[in-house]
Amino acid sequence: SLSDRLTATFKNLRGKGKLTEADIDATVREIRRALLDADVAVSVVREFTAHVKERALGAEVSEALNPGQQIVKIVNEELVSILGGQTRRINMAKTGPTIIMLAGLQGAGKTTLAGKLSHWLKKQGHTPMLVASDLQRPNAVTQLKVVGDRAGVPVYAPHPGVTSEFDTPTGDPVQVARDGVAEARAKLHDVVIVDTAGRLGVDAELMQQARNIRDAINPNEVLFVIDAMIGQDAVNTANAFNEGVDFTGVVLSKLDGDARGGAALSVASVTGKPIMFASTGENVTDFEQFHPDRMASRILDMGDVLSLIEQAEQTWDKAEADRMAKKFVDQEDFTFEDFLAQMQQIRKMGSMKKMLMMMPGAAQIRQQLENFDEKEIDRVEAIVRSMTPHERVAPKIINGSRRARIAKGSGVTVSEVNQLMERFAQAQKMMKKLASGNMAGMPGGMQM
Ligand code: GDP
Ligand code: MG
Repeated sequence: SLSDRLTATFKNLRGKGKLTEADIDATVREIRRALLDADVAVSVVREFTAHVKERALGAEVSEALNPGQQIVKIVNEELVSILGGQTRRINMAKTGPTIIMLAGLQGAGKTTLAGKLSHWLKKQGHTPMLVASDLQRPNAVTQLKVVGDRAGVPVYAPHPGVTSEFDTPTGDPVQVARDGVAEARAKLHDVVIVDTAGRLGVDAELMQQARNIRDAINPNEVLFVIDAMIGQDAVNTANAFNEGVDFTGVVLSKLDGDARGGAALSVASVTGKPIMFASTGENVTDFEQFHPDRMASRILDMGDVLSLIEQAEQTWDKAEADRMAKKFVDQEDFTFEDFLAQMQQIRKMGSMKKMLMMMPGAAQIRQQLENFDEKEIDRVEAIVRSMTPHERVAPKIINGSRRARIAKGSGVTVSEVNQLMERFAQAQKMMKKLASGNMAGMPGGMQM
């Protein structure tokens, strides 16, 4: 896979003191091959690698990063930049319903997306309505009704759904779109999502129909839905829809598959349009806003380690770090003063959650991280600050009455103070064990 190859490439670079032009060439060749394997369009790969090479050659030698990390950083930054930089939000109408039209090939995931998007909007307090303007495919109307049911949002479909797969609903999709939007306006829905028909390949007649729908309803957003597994065809399809309906944003569907983001890179790069959402399964909740930095991390598959390193370098107090290291080597006791100093360092790096989010593997436990309570750090700090200087360096003297005083001073319960004392004692023990050389017996990967 792309990520495996890039990781392998970067491993070769690790430990090198200085990056030569030959190193850069070899690396760029690997990146090119890896991107092509991931089905990123050839033209996009060419431009991307040229850019990376140029930057790598011109890069100043950084003291903070080794050459391998430096290239990872450049590749990562370029990926994020092509993918649109910031997360792009829906452009909401100032008055009346926000009109969102869906376009894309048949099977891309438009109808499924209509359900997910409306469900997501509804959860945020919006009152979306769906409009069934795909009268091309048998069952399309029925499918949208099922999807709407699941999401708990109404569907505008004046024409009867079909009961047999040989039946095709009749009617004019442009008129249905127009009437649907009028209905949404009349019933005071604040968002209306118009599902449209697609063909298996790009088709002039259907593109014209999509254009007619667009012109009839004047949407705030035209979302182009594309299957992330589509591969090299992504560029042609995206170009055709870009010219055909001039979409305003992209939705990547089926990102739950093996797709490594090749299509994302191609589409974003050739159209310059932002990717706004990702669809990641068949359920109505398998849907998320698209984050360029997360996609870049997915492509690199290593978390945002680099920005973490970078941030650490920028904010970490070297003297403080050295002091801690010396303490560690000298096997001095770790005190609450040290603990406080470390917390200050972490605070300087931004939020704890943000920091955890950047660790490799964070994607897998994202849900838990989202729930991380930032206030926990505030509570802990308040407790430590309520200790006297003497208590901080000699925690053993903190008896019951002292604990009660500390709890009172920091506005927490005594049991919270007890918990912290316990955790602190454990951490202290752990540090002792590590420092006393028990590390030698540990498996290779565990050694610092
Ligand atoms: P449309 O023709 O563009 O409306 O596409 P549909 O919404 O009907 O989806 C086509 C097929 O892809 C259906 O079987 C969906 O269940 C499936 N599908 C859509 N989105 C996703 C997704 O994000 N992940 C997966 N695994 N399947 C999807
Ligand atoms: Mg459909």
